[in-house]
Amino acid sequence: MNEYDSEKMADVLLDQSDYQETKILEEADMVLLNTCSIREKAQDKVFSDLGRLRDLKVNKPDLLIGVGGCVASQEGRQIISRAPFVDLVFGPQTLHRLPALLTERARSGRPQVDISFPEIEKFDHLPPAKKDGGAAFVSIMEGCSKYCSYCVVPYTRGEEVSRPFESILEEVSSLTQQGVCEITLLGQNVNAYLGKLDGQTELADFAMLLEYIAEIPGVERLRYTTSHPREFTQRLITAHVQIPQLVNHLHLPVQHGSDKILMAMKRGYTCLEYKSLIRKIRQAKPNIPISSDFIVGFPGETDADFQELMDLVHHVQFDNSYCFIFSARPGTPAANLEDSTPRAMKVARLQALTSLIDENILRISQSMVGNTERVMIEGIAKDGQKLQGRTENNRVCNIDLPSLGQAKRLIGKMVPVVFTKALAHSLQAELVTR
Ligand code: SAH
Ligand code: SF4
Repeated sequence: MNEYDSEKMADVLLDQSDYQETKILEEADMVLLNTCSIREKAQDKVFSDLGRLRDLKVNKPDLLIGVGGCVASQEGRQIISRAPFVDLVFGPQTLHRLPALLTERARSGRPQVDISFPEIEKFDHLPPAKKDGGAAFVSIMEGCSKYCSYCVVPYTRGEEVSRPFESILEEVSSLTQQGVCEITLLGQNVNAYLGKLDGQTELADFAMLLEYIAEIPGVERLRYTTSHPREFTQRLITAHVQIPQLVNHLHLPVQHGSDKILMAMKRGYTCLEYKSLIRKIRQAKPNIPISSDFIVGFPGETDADFQELMDLVHHVQFDNSYCFIFSARPGTPAANLEDSTPRAMKVARLQALTSLIDENILRISQSMVGNTERVMIEGIAKDGQKLQGRTENNRVCNIDLPSLGQAKRLIGKMVPVVFTKALAHSLQAELVTR
């Protein structure tokens, strides 16, 4: 989501100001930090990065420094109190106002702060996306209204708001006209999508959005992240069967396997309900690889709770997943819960979980060897000799070639390969030539 937001910041500045993008920090007239506050570590990084930028500004007093994203949203004006050399503070929902904030900064000579939530205004004020690769993100909704007890997102990004249906189709179609063939739809709970249709009172749901996007010429592969187990409808399951471009992979975060912890997290489902949903999905799409997010060390998690999580991971055979240690976030209900689990025990649980998942990853990769699949070519592999692609289930895949020269034209395209070998976190493959 933040990567997408960063691209939008660049788009809006390219379109409405004289700024151009540079990757060289010392060359920049303005530096924008797009920040994350989902866990404490990410938040701490902002202030250490700001320290380094202050040193840069000492030698270049005209350098403008902006802080965007969720830390900006959470801390607001306090960022300026703590780091008075910061010129702009803006939130995830006001990044489209960057040009106006810059003008006002220049006019008034004072730091500007705007962390409001002007609903969906943002999308009406962003220029059409520009893209030169084969894959692109498209945001379909903003914010979240689920209020899981540990999570800052509803406070930093605001409540769930769906982007109008037609505006999403227009963005996708403008991207495919630029050669994009893989689209990843973004949102905190994409399956809660309910978008306005031009000139109609009824609303479009997520399954309908997928059906329409799949009809747009040039959309060869379709992904979405993140979906929530609570609104995973039969219509959406059917969409997975009927829409050929939808990848054979699903990221469906469960967070935990103990009902006690799920309840304390306010996730809104039990472990059995999650397992039944997976059974239904796999009846429709046998063996679909499913990945998840997990939080270990939530306040009150016992060895028995953790074992239930491990049992679930074994049962579902989760594929490559994101595993986190609980981080108490200011302003969230879970931050006030008594947390007596020693840090070392949390770390040990995290390691046990990731090694169990690593076993699943390797098993799934091994089962892919010999299969043919169309992969998205993202670029040249680290060794400089192979092409690097991405599989439907999000694995890096390195493709052996007789010579790289000719094959470079395949970058940004989908090409058929046959998998030849499974490694710990990647696959080897060969081009299928006709
Ligand atoms: N909307 C998505 C997740 C967005 S946040 C969903 O509900 O699935 C991405 C992940 O960060 C979450 O799934 C969760 O596993 C993790 N996370 C969120 N808040 C956290 C916290 N306070 N401590 C540790 N991990 C957290
Ligand atoms: Fe956070 Fe829960 Fe919303 Fe995901 S669903 S963004 S974890 S509050």
